[in-house]
Amino acid sequence: MSEAENLPTSAAVAEDAVVSAEINLEDFVDDGKNKKTLACKYCGCKILENGCGKYVHLERSLPAELQDKRKTDGYVHEKLVHYFIVENMYTFDNIGFTHTIDETKYLSCADCDAGPIGYFDVESKHSYVGMTRVKHI
Ligand SMILES: [Zn+2]
Repeated sequence: MSEAENLPTSAAVAEDAVVSAEINLEDFVDDGKNKKTLACKYCGCKILENGCGKYVHLERSLPAELQDKRKTDGYVHEKLVHYFIVENMYTFDNIGFTHTIDETKYLSCADCDAGPIGYFDVESKHSYVGMTRVKHI
């Protein structure tokens, strides 16, 4: 059974965060991988070549985008359910990492610092890119 057959139905997605409800996964996922090249939504900086991230459906909250970086607590979080796993950080074309918050490092645009666009799992050393946090080109 391929990954694609496990993809949630649109009805299941609709119960999650509003941003996820508008996603048609076929537009973004092909053969279990990112169908298009991922780039920064704000500056267009290329982040990941198409086919280099493995799609995974998991519930994981990320701090909302573009918050005041001086704040260390009281982050507003948004639950995302669509991620691309990148097992080796050198697979990225460009990626930035934030300082560690609660044992998690977050991914940001290497160029303009926008983010977080995902998170870095310190134990497994895998990176998870939030599908809705990047532009698909
Ligand atoms: Zn950027």
